[in-house]
Amino acid sequence: MCAMPTVRLKPGKERSLARRHPWIYASAIDRVSGSPGNGALVQVRGEDGRFWAWAAYSPGSTIRARCWSFEPSERIDADWLAARVTTAVARRRQLHEVTSAVRLVFGEADGLPGLIVDRYGEYLVTQFQSAGIDAHREVVLDALCRACACENVFDRSDPALREREALAALGGVLRGAPPPKHVGIREYDVRYWVDVRHGHKTGFYIDQRDNRRLAGEIVQRLCARHGRAPRVLNCFCYTGGFSIAAARAGAATVTSVDSSADALELAHANAQLNALASDGDSSSPSAVHLDWLCADAFEQLRILRAEERRYDLIVLDPPKFATNQHQVPRAARAYKDINLSALRLLEPGGMLLTFSCSAAVGADLFQKIVAGAAVDAQADCYLRARLAAAADHPTLLAHPEGEYLKGLWLERA
Ligand code: SAH
Repeated sequence: MCAMPTVRLKPGKERSLARRHPWIYASAIDRVSGSPGNGALVQVRGEDGRFWAWAAYSPGSTIRARCWSFEPSERIDADWLAARVTTAVARRRQLHEVTSAVRLVFGEADGLPGLIVDRYGEYLVTQFQSAGIDAHREVVLDALCRACACENVFDRSDPALREREALAALGGVLRGAPPPKHVGIREYDVRYWVDVRHGHKTGFYIDQRDNRRLAGEIVQRLCARHGRAPRVLNCFCYTGGFSIAAARAGAATVTSVDSSADALELAHANAQLNALASDGDSSSPSAVHLDWLCADAFEQLRILRAEERRYDLIVLDPPKFATNQHQVPRAARAYKDINLSALRLLEPGGMLLTFSCSAAVGADLFQKIVAGAAVDAQADCYLRARLAAAADHPTLLAHPEGEYLKGLWLERA
């Protein structure tokens, strides 16, 4: 019988494992014995031979191994993996009461590195993005379908991430029926169409669920406070997530900006789905005026200023500006630019919801950048709350890299 393949660490490189951080970089490894294949189970041992973890081996990746477990007595087999999947699904059970779009598995946070599973109604959308999880794809799919009582699985793995793991391209129908062009979902009392085939990520920014709801609540509060319906600006609106939530909550006008014509087309459809007028359609039962602008948000913010527009609520939810540490200085300038522009358009007493989904830009740095923008805009602001991703995107304390989305709710004095 062959001995279990073993990854032996360099001296001192067990420190991150002692903190139960799940990644082992190639540079931490002294030697590998037993010729493990791509995704194979390995045991990770320190220089002194002490057991540290069970892990999946990724010979093509700089993250050379990802830990499954730190318990020497655990057996990492099909039943073990199925149990992890079942636990992750069960952890989200209550969310189904308020929404039909739920992240069921969030990689490392659920002890399943490289696996993302989002549920949109009757369709599961997967991303298999590490060699370890990919090696157990069928076991994972069986467990998912059983735990969710759902038989349709569509894959949206990122080809670049799979290539980095030396995995062949995946994508498309893995189980059951292909999804329709647009899958209808409900989030609290708002409905959206999701393009799971071509949309960003798996089709929808599920992580912003709570913050979209907050935007609706803010609109209601501003209505009550000012005795009039607020004017809302939503930059980087994608398919209208925040825009529709604000409009449904009673905004007078919602101006939405995105550079993607496809996203805006679905945003239009989402407005119709929620019986909201578009571009002043007076036959609509709702009084809100919606403007969808296909434009670069950096430029559009300047144009709106030149036009002397003012808003009571502004949402800034840009794409990831920094994918690594090297890009942080440039990203910081971009965040400052849009926040400065937005604060100049904000009425006194108005609210700004501003986000960064760059994991490389930490919460402290992001707050400093926005504070700098407020100084330059001569806008005194109160920090009403710090915002994060919804509960189905938990952060494992041992794996801070998982905490990517951070936001600030500011009120202009
Ligand atoms: N808030 C949205 C998600 C935003 S994702 C929601 O809740 O669904 C970021 C969006 O920014 C994408 O739709 C992308 O098309 C858009 N985008 C990227 N760069 C842009 C730019 N320079 N100007 C305007 N939009 C941009």
